Amino acid sequence: MNCPECNNSMQLAVSKCEIGFYNIVDKTGKLLWQWQSHDLLSDDPEIGSEVDCEHCQACSVVIHLSQ
Ligand SMILES: [Zn+2]
Repeated sequence: MNCPECNNSMQLAVSKCEIGFYNIVDKTGKLLWQWQSHDLLSDDPEIGSEVDCEHCQACSVVIHLSQ
């Protein structure tokens, strides 16, 4: 898949919902960059959830892949 903004190829990673942010992490859980902030409560069931994604950090584009 290519980025809809810059047309460079996108990287596979994982979008992880953590307290305060959606973080983009690699397959080992290493933080790559913070995508978006959110205001979910720490006991929200979405906290800690992960979804495979492709991302372009330069454009802040993240596309979730269907499970
Ligand atoms: Zn891009």
